[in-house]
Amino acid sequence: MSHQITDLIHHPYQPPRGFEAPQPGVFKASTVIFPNVAAMRARDWKNKNGYTYGLHGTPTTFMLEERIAALEGGTQCILLPSGLAAVSLTGMALLKAGDEVLIPDNAYGPNKALAEGELKQWGITHQIYDPMNPDDLQARIGPNTRLVWLEAPGSVTMEFVPLAQLAAICRERGVTSALDSTWSAGVAFNGFDLGPAGARVPGSGADIVVQALTKYPSGGGDVLMGSVVTRDEALHLRLKGTHMRLGWGIGANDAEAVLRSLPSLALRYHAQDATARKLAAWLQGRAEVAQLLHPAFGDSPGHHHWQAVCGRDGAAAGLFSVVFDERFGAERIDAFCDALRLFKLGYSWGGPVSLVVPYDVASMRSPRLGSWPNKGVLVRFSAGLEAVDDLMADLEQALDRLG
Ligand SMILES: *Cc1c(COP(=O)(O)O)cnc(C)c1O
Repeated sequence: MSHQITDLIHHPYQPPRGFEAPQPGVFKASTVIFPNVAAMRARDWKNKNGYTYGLHGTPTTFMLEERIAALEGGTQCILLPSGLAAVSLTGMALLKAGDEVLIPDNAYGPNKALAEGELKQWGITHQIYDPMNPDDLQARIGPNTRLVWLEAPGSVTMEFVPLAQLAAICRERGVTSALDSTWSAGVAFNGFDLGPAGARVPGSGADIVVQALTKYPSGGGDVLMGSVVTRDEALHLRLKGTHMRLGWGIGANDAEAVLRSLPSLALRYHAQDATARKLAAWLQGRAEVAQLLHPAFGDSPGHHHWQAVCGRDGAAAGLFSVVFDERFGAERIDAFCDALRLFKLGYSWGGPVSLVVPYDVASMRSPRLGSWPNKGVLVRFSAGLEAVDDLMADLEQALDRLG
């Protein structure tokens, strides 16, 4: 070439083949170059038989999709720029004006907010159901119900719902079910194949399994990403079509960060589980605490449902909540949270840093269901990867100030 700027772009050097390493390369592209027009016309990104455009997939994103589908026990995976985008894609792909979606009362809050905001605006109705009572779900499924959300345990309040029963009701009534399986992370239980007692019964779970990869799969507190996994090809193509039309892509560096963290997912999950159980058991013995909410503990709501899908000695995320004695008002609990030094105030769990958030649960619940009887303030804890003794000492010094 004659001009330097052209040579800089069309330089003939190619890196040598034969660099095989366990970790994938970070492939970044908007444009993908085709060898000729025939190849350009023949390639199909939908079946992953070729690369057409960065938004349609790169070697890095295809690899992550395959790994997440395997993690969840599904066959196809769609990656999105956040867990919430995975939730909203599901609704946008499957619902139209006149349809109805059912959402559990203890669902991840922004899922309800989407129903109250955009979905309502688009003529899609929703009802909140009591997920601890399968008869309530049964009664609310109507002729326009097209999608039922499932989540176990409930966000923040940690009740473990009768998941297999709820999924069975959806199947019997012919309604698509979508499970937000962020808590399980594909480790504690399989969203497609549920119990009994940790055994896997094929097809007993949800039709769609959604996860905020932001939490455990990322594990670093530095990536926002979501996944939508299916087993049914037709359902996948519906979701994928909407995904493409909306133009939601993910960045290659983020995909690589999750690929790097996935091999240690189970190790981290079990370590954070063990830390959380030690902290929970210790807190349960404190006079300041009225109730512990952790599904692996016997007197926590839905404990037997947790046993049913995770097994008697099953796993749990490193997440739990406590309801403080009602003699401590919201201000004193805020001061307790402020007094913690290792536990940081922050929302997105699953990373190395232990976190804490005080919640006003009554304001988050449907008043009709009246399913939050507690008077004391709830605080949610998320165990990180610090030494458990240090975390316990931190809790102790902050509790001592509570007086
Ligand atoms: C965090 C979370 C999400 C949303 O994930 P983002 O990546 O933060 O959007 C969805 N569902 C559950 C249960 C979550 O905990």
